[in-house]
Amino acid sequence: MVPIGRAGSASAAKTPRLDFARYTTEGGLESLGRALMLNASFEPLCVVSVRRAVVLVLKSKAEIVSRNGAEIRSERTTLPVPTVIRLVHYVRVPYRSRVPLSRRAVFARDGHRCQYCNHPAENIDHVVPRSRGGTHTWENVVASCRSCNAHKEDRLLSETGLALRRPPVAPHAALWLVATAGSIDPSWEPFLPEDDAVPA
Ligand SMILES: [Zn+2]
Repeated sequence: MVPIGRAGSASAAKTPRLDFARYTTEGGLESLGRALMLNASFEPLCVVSVRRAVVLVLKSKAEIVSRNGAEIRSERTTLPVPTVIRLVHYVRVPYRSRVPLSRRAVFARDGHRCQYCNHPAENIDHVVPRSRGGTHTWENVVASCRSCNAHKEDRLLSETGLALRRPPVAPHAALWLVATAGSIDPSWEPFLPEDDAVPA
């Protein structure tokens, strides 16, 4: 991927001095919420505070892709409040950036529901039991209720009559970040990959 540079550095000279203490907005700076940060390639990277987003824009490290109409003001400067920013230079991320597998994360992915019977989940279950060569991976671990977990024992699904409600998959790392960040701003949606694995 070729980094996308900013043509010239003329804009840097016009960058307002950054002293956040001098900026104010209705409801205070902490009320501004968060912004989605995109890579130069427009792939979502993470969710940052608006304060962080504005700092990156003022340092010419990012540009504003979407704004919500609100402004922050100092005596001399008015800045738009970004809801989506894009890094000027491409940041290399690990090729397979995976969400770490944990009990809590599996429960979140599966909506805290047993993936066999849809009752509230209490355990995690290895679809192919570890004693039968099953791996401890997103694709082989599901949330399950105590009853299904006990009924299944160390057997394969084909030996139990149980069926998965949907195939377990690793959550998309970028979407996972957004989902765990709480609410999703409508202006973020065009940049988010579609993924069924996002917890409700
Ligand atoms: Zn169950």
